[in-house]
Amino acid sequence: MDIKKFREAGYAAIDKICDYYGSLETKPVIAQVEPGWLSKALPTEAPQKGEPFERVEEDFQKLILPGITHWQHPSFFAYFPSPVTFEGILGDLYSSSLSNPGFNWICSPACTELESVVMDWAAKLFGLQEEFHVASGKGGGVIMSTASEAALTALVAARSRFQTKYPDVPLEKLVIYGTTQTHIMGKKAAAILGLQFRPLKVIKGDNYSLRGKVLKKALEEDQRKGLKPFGLIATIGTTSSGAIDNVEEIGQILRDYPDIWLHVDAAWAGVVLSCPEYRDVAQLPAINKYATSFCTNFHKWGLVNFDASTLWVRERTDLTNALDLTPEYLRTKHGDSGAVIDYRNWQLPLGRKFRALKIWFVLRGFGVEGFQAHIRKGIKLAQLFADHLQLPSNVSPRFELVTPVSFSLVVFRLLPPGDRSEMATEEINELNKAYFARLSARSDSIFLVQTLLDDIFCIRFAVGAERTGPEHIGGAWKIIKEEAEGALEEWSKSTAKARL
Ligand SMILES: *Cc1c(COP(=O)(O)O)cnc(C)c1O
Repeated sequence: MDIKKFREAGYAAIDKICDYYGSLETKPVIAQVEPGWLSKALPTEAPQKGEPFERVEEDFQKLILPGITHWQHPSFFAYFPSPVTFEGILGDLYSSSLSNPGFNWICSPACTELESVVMDWAAKLFGLQEEFHVASGKGGGVIMSTASEAALTALVAARSRFQTKYPDVPLEKLVIYGTTQTHIMGKKAAAILGLQFRPLKVIKGDNYSLRGKVLKKALEEDQRKGLKPFGLIATIGTTSSGAIDNVEEIGQILRDYPDIWLHVDAAWAGVVLSCPEYRDVAQLPAINKYATSFCTNFHKWGLVNFDASTLWVRERTDLTNALDLTPEYLRTKHGDSGAVIDYRNWQLPLGRKFRALKIWFVLRGFGVEGFQAHIRKGIKLAQLFADHLQLPSNVSPRFELVTPVSFSLVVFRLLPPGDRSEMATEEINELNKAYFARLSARSDSIFLVQTLLDDIFCIRFAVGAERTGPEHIGGAWKIIKEEAEGALEEWSKSTAKARL
């Protein structure tokens, strides 16, 4: 493709993308295809001779788009939202046009320096104290692909810091702490590092939050066994239910265990820190006091297209001591003099995408106020949905919020008629599984996912797509209510039959 052809195809592509967004609401939320359908439709080998781009583009429209689940659909309430903005798309487009692995400052000084600048912008947006800013010269921020990568990197640094201090402690004594609600990435990081992961049990009575006393007990137990907890993942907004670990209590306990690295995972909910009114609930003062590292994803609720996960550390040498392994061919005059940041030494891979550009485009396009308005809208819409669920108790169908609404996440279940205290959890679960199956059958109009909290089967409703408005919450509620009525009717028929 030459420049002339690229210009034509490029303009046409933008037109098609605009058409896509213009017609998004008319599309089924979930791809309505069967497994294996695409592999059957495509040749099994790359073409011998190059094809004209129009043919490729046609196939994209005809074969690929029908297999796409539309995360930007206003009725997408599954997992967590991943809203993309046109500013973000353009950022990625320019970034692709430069295709730059940016591992050293000299690879492209702008890639490194813009990243440092936007990470300080973001640190201020979220209220992280100065030690975490690049400008402090002490800590700083780095953009990664995912929160999983950020947690793994933090734990590699934590292990290295611990081993340097205690070279005689065998690796099998090292333990990473999380909770029974920590994202699975904690367990995965431990598996990758060949270390133990200990999930501390959190309970419904604490809204699945890790409390200081639970941590203290585990630390004392492990100490008696000669084990060495060296890293703890605390979560602000767990994936299942949006639970918030008590970082203040955790931090106070960890004062007696200064060798433990506290990584705060706020992959989804961290962006609420942009709004001053949520900073206390989201534990910002404690994060500033105690966290060794902090991560949130701009690519979840933060208006930037996947991937853009941001990690801050209080002490950048913790990363570089573990990860700066420099062969001759990567040495540069600026790097040797310490005058610049070489981000390869802050991360696991060598090369890296120029992700700062899309965050910069989004933050400039929206401004702090626009960003805050987006977050506040999501929280307000989730509350609107929760209000629908909390009908007076004499009205059918009856719902229960299994945990308190957490920012823009609502976790609920359907209740059978009658006195709940006489019903077994399993019985209510059966009703909700049948109910969820009915909701899943409406996947052209709405997309939700289920979760388990202890043994309670629940349904998650996560708001945050950029285009979702009150009318979509209303539409979703209509379906949710309709299917609840249907599920209850079926349920009462089957229980009546069982009684015969
Ligand atoms: C989504 C999520 C993760 C993992 O995110 P990736 O960026 O996909 O690795 C980790 N923790 C929490 C709380 C999450 O919600």
